[in-house]
Parts: sequence; structure tokens; C-alpha cells
Amino acid sequence: MKILSDFSLEELKNELTHIQSFRVKQIFDAIHQSKDYADTNLPKNLIEELKENYILKPAEIFRKLESKDGTKKYLIKLHDDNLIECVFLFQDYGNTICLSTQVGCRMGCKFCASTENGLIRNLSAGEMLSVVALVNADNGKCNERNFTNIVLMGSGEPLDNFDNVVKWLKLITSKDGFNLSERNISLSTCGLVDKIHELSKKDFQITLCVSLHATTDEIRKTIMPIANAYKIEDIINALKEYVAKTKRRVVFEYCLIKDVNDSDLDIKRLKQLTRDLLCHVNVICLNPNGGSLKATTKDEAKNFVKKLNDAGVSATLRRSQGSDIEGACGMLRAKHLKNKE
Ligand code: SAH
Repeated sequence: MKILSDFSLEELKNELTHIQSFRVKQIFDAIHQSKDYADTNLPKNLIEELKENYILKPAEIFRKLESKDGTKKYLIKLHDDNLIECVFLFQDYGNTICLSTQVGCRMGCKFCASTENGLIRNLSAGEMLSVVALVNADNGKCNERNFTNIVLMGSGEPLDNFDNVVKWLKLITSKDGFNLSERNISLSTCGLVDKIHELSKKDFQITLCVSLHATTDEIRKTIMPIANAYKIEDIINALKEYVAKTKRRVVFEYCLIKDVNDSDLDIKRLKQLTRDLLCHVNVICLNPNGGSLKATTKDEAKNFVKKLNDAGVSATLRRSQGSDIEGACGMLRAKHLKNKE
């Protein structure tokens, strides 16, 4: 079965050549409004015909948790019963959707719950779009855009699903659809250097975020297996190319882990690493997920950021939202899978 949201409006017209173009537009709008066949105004015979070959709504809400701070965390069931997460965050400057790009993940970062059961499969571009539409409809009128930003910081490694993510970028920014500005999209990667080079060539205006989490390759290797494939130096060089090409500031995510990456020496090395790069450091406190890694305290984290700022490094401490509802990457899904065992 093909998923209708995998098609752009043009592609859909080419796919459904025997259907009148206003009907095709209705289908396209139904995708963006997260409607199922029964909720549309399409004629019954057309619905029957479409149902045989196409999925209109590949995602549905399986569970929803609401945090005291308003953050909503969704466990979403896909058409093949796989589960993924999505988070809706209310912020002063607008609402942000945190989107997954894969079912599971194969990157193996030691602190991350998304990767515990490995990679199940990639999400298609249309599935990612349909998840956005689903969560959008749950947070306001379904025919309006109720979010201003999307961050690809849910489960999965976006650059490990490169083609589908690139296609999704085109769908989500399409004037026919949500018409989201590239500048309001952030893509977070653990640092697949070859793919960063490839992304640079696409010349998107998105914000590229790299999960650095360590200041030496040796430390990085102990928490992120990807560090065995790419050196920090190679990441920095790829980012320099990205900045030169796009003129966009890049962001480092730096998750503070007690006695692993939170020393004064790390501050010194961070200054060194970020010296010749248009960048910002987003410091996060580890959300412990039961492993041996412990979080640096909030006060220590504030102090770490202050020292970075004093050293001339642009850095802020990211406010953690939704931590009372398994807000960190993959925690809700991991918990659900464990309970099922
Ligand atoms: N695979 C991508 C995007 C997904 S994770 C990446 O690695 O960037 C989004 C961010 O959350 C990453 O910076 C990731 O390292 C971080 N993260 C994952 N688990 C976390 C945890 N338990 N506590 C704090 N941050 C975490």
C-alpha cells in the first residue's frame, strides 16, 4: 500500500491522473488536516477505490501525556503498529513540534533511550508529515498551522534517513501544505560527517545542530559509538563548510554528564573547538535513564554555562520541558516496550 502523504501535490496529480484535480487537492488537504477517509467529503466510490491501494492516515494517537508545564508527549501508532514519539512544546515565541525520524535508532548513544532496542525502520517522508498533521490537529484547528517550529530531535538519527528527511523538508515547507519556513526547522545529528557534507550541498536554510557531548574523541567514544567513525575535528570542518555555504549559525548540543564531560578542562577545550566557527552551545542536563551515567546538578550546569560565557563562548542552558512525562528522547516508547515484555 502506498501512503498518500508521501506525495507532493504535483506528484499526487501525476499519480491519480484519472481523478479530477479539485478532488486531488481535497485529498492533499485531508492529509494536512489529518483526516481519515470517513472524515472527508470525497465520494463513496472514490473512497472505496482509494482504500484498495492507498493509506490516507498512517498515524494515530496511541497515548498522550500532558506535563504540568503544558508539554504534551504523544505515543503514536503507525499503520504497521510500530510506535514512535512526538512532543508538542508551548513556548513564548511559538509552539514547537519535536519529531522522530526513525522507529528506534542504531547509533547506540549510551545515555539515549531511543536506541535501546536498535533500529526497527526508517520513517517515510509522508509518515513524518502525517505525524506533524496529527499533532497539529490535536492542538488547535486542523485547517490552521498551530506550530511555528519543528525540531528533528525525537527518536532516530535524521541523517541516517537522509533521503526521506530531505523529501520531508520539501513537503513541510511546500506552499501548498504547511508552508513552514526552512529557518524554523532544526535538524539534530550525532555527527555523520559524510551526510553533513551532503546536506551542505542541498543549501537548505535549516539550523543544523550537532550532539557533541564531549570535548575529546576519547571521551566521546565512551558515550557515543559514532565517535569511532568520525573525529570531532572532522565534524568541525564539515560544519565550517555548512556555515560557509548556508551562512547559518550551527548549534552544538552538550549534555552534561557528571564526571564525564563537565570539568574546567572541558570548558577550555570547548572554547578551543568553537573558536573559528559561527556557533552556539546548547547545554542540557542529562535526563538519566537508569544507566550508570549521572546528571550534573542544575547549579553546576549554570556555573558551567557562566564559565563558558566568561570565556567568550556563546552558550545557554536549555530549559528542560516535560521531564515529568518521560520527556527525553525515546523514554516513553522504551517504557511502553518494557511493560509489554
Ligand atoms: N540522533 C540525533 C537526534 C535525536 S536526540 C542526535 O543525536 O542529535 C536529540 C538530542 O537529545 C540529542 O542531542 C541527544 O544527544 C539528546 N539526548 C538523548 N538522550 C538524552 C538524555 N537522556 N538526556 C539528555 N539529552 C539526551
